[in-house]
Amino acid sequence: MLKVENLCFAYGKIRAVNGVSFELKKGELLAIIGANGAGKSSLMKCIAGVLKAQSGDIYLNNKKIPSSTHKIVRSGIALVPEGRWIFPNLTVEENLFMGGYIVKDRKAGINRSYRMFPRLEERKTQRAGTLSGGEQQMLAIARGLMSNPQVLLLDEPSLGIAPLIVNDIMSIIKEINEEGVSVLLVEQNARKALGIAHYACVLERGSIVKTGTGRELAQDESIIAAYLGGVKGK
Ligand code: ATP
Repeated sequence: MLKVENLCFAYGKIRAVNGVSFELKKGELLAIIGANGAGKSSLMKCIAGVLKAQSGDIYLNNKKIPSSTHKIVRSGIALVPEGRWIFPNLTVEENLFMGGYIVKDRKAGINRSYRMFPRLEERKTQRAGTLSGGEQQMLAIARGLMSNPQVLLLDEPSLGIAPLIVNDIMSIIKEINEEGVSVLLVEQNARKALGIAHYACVLERGSIVKTGTGRELAQDESIIAAYLGGVKGK
């Protein structure tokens, strides 16, 4: 479905993404884990068209993706960026409305968001900036889904969120994927990401150094030492 081939992006001399290739198949949840500064956000921004890769190709359903961000959204790819970037002075519902600018029936999308996130319906007239971190993340995800994407790009959805709420967010991501949306999940919280991912890649200094199923990587001694605090999961 989404195929990335030999993608490179540098900020001046800093090579943030260095020859990355991977494939996200239809219906799959693929996690990319890596430390701070590994290049995860830069990779996501290149796929979403926010940054222009200097070389490499990105295909959606065997067709090269367009170059502008809004055409990329229309082609079926939505980014939920790191830091959420919701509109704090707009209400919850207005934020959702904005996210659905390419669809005809925004009301149906908003109703779907409320079914998936009842909390957002309770707070629909509240200004988004007054929501808790977890609620803002739910809003950012719901807003991303408003464009009915085939592929949802999630950049660090657990960042800055209370540990208990992180579990809720991960369950929601799993649910979204089970409803048929292919998900590319970038996370520093490797344990949580590997817990829900079908497949995963490890990104180090802009390059993929290891791939496997979520389960395989969660049992891999080098991953346990480097990313799971030396503690084996269940
Ligand atoms: P984090 O989780 O901290 O966001 P990351 O894995 O997403 O890390 P990136 O933010 O993609 O990593 O950063 C990759 C590299 O590019 C790092 O060396 C970083 O310092 C550098 N970098 C990121 N943004 C810029 C920028 N705007 N200008 C210059 N260098 C940048």
